[in-house]
Amino acid sequence: MARVASILLPLPLPEAFDYAEPEGMTLSLGDQVVVPLGPQRLLGVVSALRDGAGHNRPLKPVMEQRPSPPLPPNTLAFVQWAARYAVDAPGQPLAIALRGARAPKPRAERVIAATGQAPARSTPARQRVLTAATAPMAAGVLAAAAGVSASVVKGLVDEGVLEVRMVEPPLAFDPPDPTLAASALNPSQAAARQALSALWDAGGFQAALLDGVTGSGKTEVYLEAVAHALAADPQAQILVLLPEIALTQAVIARFAERFGAAPAEWHSGVAPPQRRRVWEAVATGQCRIVVGARSALFLPFAHLRMIVVDEEHDGSYKQEEGFIYQARDLAVVRAKIEGALVVLASATPSLETLYNAETGRYRWLKLSDRHGAAELPDISLIDLRETPPEHGHWLSPPLVKALAETYARGEQSLLFLNRRGYAPLVLCRSCGEKLTAPDTDSWLVEHRYTGRLVCHLTGFSMKKPEACPHCGAKDSLVSIGPGVERVEEEARSLFPEARIAVFSSDTVFDAEAARTLVESMAAGEIDILVATQAAAKGHNFPNLTLVGVVDADLGLRGGDLRAAERTFQLLAQASGRAGRHERPGRALLQTYAPEHAVMQALKDQDRDAFVAAEMAAREASGLPPFGRLAAIIATGTDPAALESFVRSLAAAAPNAEGVEVYGPADAPLTLIRGRRRKRFLVRANRNVDLQAFLAAWRARVRVPGSIRMTIDVDPYSFL
Ligand code: ADP
Repeated sequence: MARVASILLPLPLPEAFDYAEPEGMTLSLGDQVVVPLGPQRLLGVVSALRDGAGHNRPLKPVMEQRPSPPLPPNTLAFVQWAARYAVDAPGQPLAIALRGARAPKPRAERVIAATGQAPARSTPARQRVLTAATAPMAAGVLAAAAGVSASVVKGLVDEGVLEVRMVEPPLAFDPPDPTLAASALNPSQAAARQALSALWDAGGFQAALLDGVTGSGKTEVYLEAVAHALAADPQAQILVLLPEIALTQAVIARFAERFGAAPAEWHSGVAPPQRRRVWEAVATGQCRIVVGARSALFLPFAHLRMIVVDEEHDGSYKQEEGFIYQARDLAVVRAKIEGALVVLASATPSLETLYNAETGRYRWLKLSDRHGAAELPDISLIDLRETPPEHGHWLSPPLVKALAETYARGEQSLLFLNRRGYAPLVLCRSCGEKLTAPDTDSWLVEHRYTGRLVCHLTGFSMKKPEACPHCGAKDSLVSIGPGVERVEEEARSLFPEARIAVFSSDTVFDAEAARTLVESMAAGEIDILVATQAAAKGHNFPNLTLVGVVDADLGLRGGDLRAAERTFQLLAQASGRAGRHERPGRALLQTYAPEHAVMQALKDQDRDAFVAAEMAAREASGLPPFGRLAAIIATGTDPAALESFVRSLAAAAPNAEGVEVYGPADAPLTLIRGRRRKRFLVRANRNVDLQAFLAAWRARVRVPGSIRMTIDVDPYSFL
């Protein structure tokens, strides 16, 4: 028998399947192929090839070898590594890696080209057309270039002098030009740039933390490090990861300006045919720079030399559904596999990354100050126990005063509240019922723009009822607490003349809408921007001098492992939006707990003290980064079946040194979409192979068809 090819399919299957390499076909590792699986024909990737001698089981042959670029060996190795890390099937990350390969091709375009035949009758107009038809082009373009009407072109086509061809639009990614004008870096920036260039020159896997306050010029520095890499290696490919689609536009614009060509964009908003183009151009090495969201990490780079993870601390890097992974951590792994440089940038690095910097695993590059005249904002706390807002209002007198002063000076304010909608809870005054979705144990959020009550977990929504669905009382439903829409309402009543806008995922749902709003804010067309975290990150608004945090305590409630860390990061980022240019800025944080360590650290701008205290607490309890965590979530519609499954799972837990298993316990979100949820938490010492433990555990149980079991390595959500 000829060779045996192991084919990895983009499906949740435990392993690759074997097929025969048919006569006349020569396969290579990474090739895209079509194979039969039951009645289906599926696209897969060759993950291993071996001699078929001695193989006596008959195998189905590979049906087709695709002409598309193969998955590079490093990408394949990365996919397999990622699967092991997540304790999941390799087909899951493969499906992400093949998303672009499976997207529809860009539609072929009709173009007109000369056939070489001379026209029977020559006129000046016809002559101009033939002179202009140097390359295939659209009929309209040709007519315009020749200055003739469409009928002249059509006449020549009818005669056979010109012909219509269908061509695929070319993969056009203009090469970046690293020699274009660079900013003159300040000494601290220049030192960081120098260090990054030296790491790059040293070659092989290198990791660095670029640590500097918001506005210190981290983007400026990594742009120059990218320029260095592009100039030194004409094939080098660079990947820049960002946590939010809303940020990609600004970063793409800065790359386009610096290198004279726009980088490729990769996120859920990119149309499928364009994904196909980007995928192929990345696989062939033609596309040099990609700016994208976390899934860009799975693109088939031919020659990846550098990865930047901007805002590396951001929780959005954790993918929580389908294939569960932490893109920042996997970026470091990918860089290791590729022998590339990885740069993690943040003003408030994660404790995991700080730990790696402190222990010397990552080079720690610090940018000391804001660039130029810009200074860090002055941060103060408003004690809501002393100066509470009026009843039914959310902005306290000191914050209102600051807003008025800022508005009077013609400067901009940002009111930050990390809560979408109008009110997070609707309650019946008569019976006390809190409205929830029918099949999910989570409060419905009131949205006034749409007049609906929405479940933010499942997307379920309903019109706000006139009467309480529980007791039937009329006009008894009251909105409890504020969301951004309610803060906007209050700001409008306080400043009726001011131009006020809301920035949340309900008002800004795609990259284009984000760009428009960010541009109008940057241009000073908005006086007060009420925003969730969608606007708190990365953006640069020159005339913004006041940030008001409406509820600084929000993230600390129901605290999990990272509640304090996340609150510190988010509020430091939000505060950092103020005073990024010449005018000094200030941030006011409304809190009921001004003595809390997080609030004190924010007020004193003392990140180091906060980090030291938080690290000590984590170390004492063996939590990340000093220990490792994993969660197991089991769900089912039948409570008895779920209970029996989690009991058998608990009984099957292997005994291992340095590992503790907690649970099963009801998940804090006990019911989602009609499925009850139970959780286990596993804590392990750093030296334990947690993945091997989890895989062994899973192998000991049979999961009934009615139960879904998910393993979440390094969980960020504990709900
Ligand atoms: P960060 O990424 O640290 O928040 P940025 O790189 O966005 O900081 O820089 C903040 C602002 O200061 C930007 O408007 C940037 O263009 C400007 N800036 C930073 N460094 C320089 C420099 N060396 N020369 C000119 N402008 C700079």
